[in-house]
This record gives sequence, C-alpha cells and structure tokens, in this order.
Amino acid sequence: MQGRRIVILGSTGSIGTQTLDVIERLNHSGHATNIVGLSAGRNIDLLTQQIEHFSPYIVSAAEEDGARVLRDRFPDLTVLSGCDGLEELASLSNVDLVVNALVGAIGLSPTLTTLASGRTLALANKESMVIGGELVTDVLREKGGTILPIDSEHNAIFQSMRAGEHTEIERIIITASGGPFLNTPLEKLATVSVQDALHHPNWSMGSRITIDSATMVNKAFEVIEAHYLFDVPYEKINPVIHPQSVIHSLVEYQDGSIIAELAASDMRIPIQYALTYPARVATGLPRLSLAKMSELSFELLDVVRYPAFATVHAAGVRGGTAPAAVNAADEILVSRFLRGEIGYTAIAGGLQEILDRWTARADTMNEQLTLRRILNIDRWAREQAAGLRPQSQS
Ligand code: NAD
Ligand code: MG
Repeated sequence: MQGRRIVILGSTGSIGTQTLDVIERLNHSGHATNIVGLSAGRNIDLLTQQIEHFSPYIVSAAEEDGARVLRDRFPDLTVLSGCDGLEELASLSNVDLVVNALVGAIGLSPTLTTLASGRTLALANKESMVIGGELVTDVLREKGGTILPIDSEHNAIFQSMRAGEHTEIERIIITASGGPFLNTPLEKLATVSVQDALHHPNWSMGSRITIDSATMVNKAFEVIEAHYLFDVPYEKINPVIHPQSVIHSLVEYQDGSIIAELAASDMRIPIQYALTYPARVATGLPRLSLAKMSELSFELLDVVRYPAFATVHAAGVRGGTAPAAVNAADEILVSRFLRGEIGYTAIAGGLQEILDRWTARADTMNEQLTLRRILNIDRWAREQAAGLRPQSQS
C-alpha cells in the first residue's frame, strides 16, 4: 500500500491514541497513512490492540518484560525495548514522519536522533524543547530537519506565522486557560484535592500535564518551548489567561495586526495539521460554533496565584541545565502530589527550592551543554525533589 509512513513514539498515551484516531480518519478519507513503528511504556495490552489494528513491522516497549510478552503474541514482529528501542525507531530509514508523543525527559534523545538524520518530527513531547532546546536548535541548524509542533499553542503560533515574515513579528501571545483554580480563593489553594487539580476545565490530557496546567508550570514550559521553536526572545513571548481556550495562541506583527488560530478544544486538530502539513484536509473533526460562543475574555497572569510559572520561567531565561532541573523536579513533585504525599502549593515551593539549590551548585554555569550534562542534572534534581520534606515546602 502506498501512503505516508509514520512512526509513533508513545502510542498508548493521550496524544498517541489521538494520533492513531487521526490516522484512522485520514485513511478513511483517502489520505493513505501507514504505521511503520509504534512504541509504548507499560500498557502492553493496549499496544497489542494497536499492533493488531495497524500492523506495524517494528515496535518497542519500555521494559524487556513487556517486550517478551509481545514476542510471544507476535512471533513475526520485530520487538525492541528500552531507550535503545526508542532510538532504533527514531532512526529507521524510509520513514516520512516521526511523532514524538512520549512524556518526560526520555523524549529528548529520540527527538535529537530523528532530527540528526534530517527527518521531519511532529513534536508533542514538550520536554524535548524545555530541557534540550539549545541542543535541538543546534541539530536543526546543522542537519536541516523540520519540527512540526503538536502542542496546541505552538501549533496555533506555527499556523499564525504563515501570515507574515519572522522579521515582522512584534510578539507572540500564548493563551492559558488558567486551569481549575483560576477563581479559587488564594487561601484555599494549600488544601485543594488531587481530584480538583485533575479536573481541567477545557482539555482532557495525561495526568502530569493536567497538574502542570493547574500550577501553570505547563505555561512556563510552553514559553520556553516557543522561544526555541520560533527563535523569538523571551521578552517578546507573553502569556495571557483566556479561560475559554478558544483562541489557541496569537502572533502580533509590527503593523499592529494580530493573527490568531481558533478551533474546538480537541488535540486531534493540531495533531492532524502536523500530520498533513502544509495541506488541510476534511476528516470530520469537531467544529467550533461561533454562534454558540457568548464570550472571549482575557486577563493577565497573576504570579501570586501561579508562583510556579515565575520559577520555571526564570529557569528558562537562565538557560543551560536550569530548565532540566525544574522539569525533573516537577515530574517528581507532581507524582508525589498525585500520591497524596505533598499538598498542591508544595509543588511550587519545591520547584523554587530546587532552582535555588541548582543556582548554588558550582558546576552548573559556563560549561558546554551536552545531553549527558542535561541527564545528569535531571537525575540530581529528581533525587533532590524526592527528598524534600513536605512540611518544608509550602
Ligand atoms: P501520556 O502520559 O498520556 O502518554 C505518554 C506516552 O509515553 C505513553 O504511551 C507511555 O506509555 C509512553 N511512555 C512513558 N514512559 C515511557 C518510557 N520510559 N519508555 C517508553 N515510553 C514511555 O502523556 P500525554 O498527555 O499524551 O503527553 C505526551 C506529551 O505531549 C507530553 O510531553 C505532554 O506535555 C505533551 N502534550 C500533551 C497534550 C495532551 O493533550 N495530552 C497537549 C499538549 C502537549
Ligand atoms: Mg499546550
């Protein structure tokens, strides 16, 4: 069968399953798209269903135990595991597009590998840009690969940038819903529950990014991501709260024109744009009804309500391994919060503490950034964040 050949890393997650849904739609609407390779973490049963349905010829599981199960189930399939498996999938020849839908720092290395061979990468894994933006930029400059952003804000910016030249950009405006605690009295934030924090008003996503949307760590990550993806200085990237999540982001040009992308809050729309770019095709995805929309409102981001935004943003501006430190710390603090070990405000407190400890380290500045240094800091910050005592963090 002819058609575009695609690899999906993280196919069992929120973005991964929605990517497969889009591929199904593309195939039904005459845009043949073939799955060459899939990778997943520990959800071997879902990966099994995906293999049966999409017939890739190579797959990878996070752990060797899972890989063994798959080899038993599919004797003719090439089954790999661990980081080597991800690298192998990212470097397959004869592939048109690699979709990186992994969550966490583990996504950086496959991003670099995909781009190192000049390939096209549809990128959902924001940690790649947050912790490795400088390395990714270098690889792009040297090898000439392409990134098509899936994160809805960056996809909106990418689309809005088709309206003008890079030199004509005045600023980028990144919208943020404000999350579930936009109107919660500040004194109640210390005692909000995990369930409250997981209840995002507009989007259904993986658990880490949902908590990061409540604290606005996600928005600071997105500012860093935009800085590297679009080569725009931090002072020209402004977040704005837009509770309806209808405008997914905007680009203001020097003549005063602002170009925005509006769409239903459905990640399959930006995913599909990345898959079909530069074409736009009809596959029956949900439409935005302007007639049903009564209000589009905007407000400034309040750093008293969202202190973690300021901490992570500061880490981004510092550069080097600082974003890797706060990203790793956040991953641990969010999982500790989800397990009920620490309170909600301890996430922001813990992030600032880890950034302070990073700053106090003598070896963090003035050294060339490498993947190894990033992963070392990642490990260090995880240990630090795991050891923070709950009572010292609020
Ligand atoms: P998720 O947790 O739902 O899925 C993550 C995927 O990665 C799963 O398939 C999981 O099995 C796989 N994975 C995890 N650890 C692994 C490991 N060690 N080895 C191999 N595979 C592993 O996450 P998600 O919500 O789909 O998010 C994926 C990325 O996209 C994140 O970087 C997130 O910030 C970004 N993103 C997500 C959304 C969304 O709507 N979900 C929106 C914008 C950006
Ligand atoms: Mg986003």
